[in-house]
Amino acid sequence: MGRWLKLGNLDLLVVSDGILRLDAGAVFGLTPRVMWEPHAGPLDDMHRLPMGLNCVVVRSGGKTVLIETGVGTKRARTPGAAGTGEVGTLLEELAREGIRPEDVDIVVNTHLHFDHAGGNTVTAAGGPAPAFPRARYFIQKGEWEEAQRPNERTRATYLAENFEPLAEARQVELVEGEAEVVKGVRMVPAPGHTAHHAVVELESGGELALYAGELAQHPVMLERIAWISAFDVLPLVSLETKKRLIERAIDKRALLVCVHAPFPGVGRLRLEDGKRRWDET
Ligand SMILES: [Zn+2]
Repeated sequence: MGRWLKLGNLDLLVVSDGILRLDAGAVFGLTPRVMWEPHAGPLDDMHRLPMGLNCVVVRSGGKTVLIETGVGTKRARTPGAAGTGEVGTLLEELAREGIRPEDVDIVVNTHLHFDHAGGNTVTAAGGPAPAFPRARYFIQKGEWEEAQRPNERTRATYLAENFEPLAEARQVELVEGEAEVVKGVRMVPAPGHTAHHAVVELESGGELALYAGELAQHPVMLERIAWISAFDVLPLVSLETKKRLIERAIDKRALLVCVHAPFPGVGRLRLEDGKRRWDET
């Protein structure tokens, strides 16, 4: 089931695309295992960390906006597929809340990695097709370009089936830098995980929420700024971005949604004796 939250006059719905399992050492990057292990919880027999795939639906100005689409269903249940777990539940979860694919007006992708944009498309008779037939998909232009020319490292995660069908259907809305998606929903560049990675700020009635994208893969990585995932392509840029956005989040008492934290991944950061603390909501 989804989790409803109130932000000013906005209703937010956190919905899950399931659980992704990734190598725990890669998730925590340079951080020594003895330091992260007490925070990680139980790993599976392949030493993988179970990670959430938390997506958010927000209705504003008569529009239904979906932030992120998870891994999706195209490859989801292939046994043994690298990195996948029990994924591809987003459309069922939306249906349970009475949201049909054609109800979604706008999709926002923080970046185009397979676990964030995989649900952009579904398998149809003629091949992969947009999962949300009426939606405009908001994507940073630089991210779109990176995904078009992946290198030896990024080609396993930039899968054309997740974004090419959107271009063919003319549903792509490329944006550069900060962009208002609809009233109260803003895409904000947050480079580091990828060069053009973006987060999404939601604002209503003086309250702020931050869909943090891959700013941190685990809430403890919001508390400890130097804990940066090996998946980040620009780790030192991630460091600066994290400092800036975390300071803002603490200052504004922002509600944070962590994509990869266990469902629903919602909480707030506060300072306690000069140390950042994550409180789950
Ligand atoms: Zn991810």
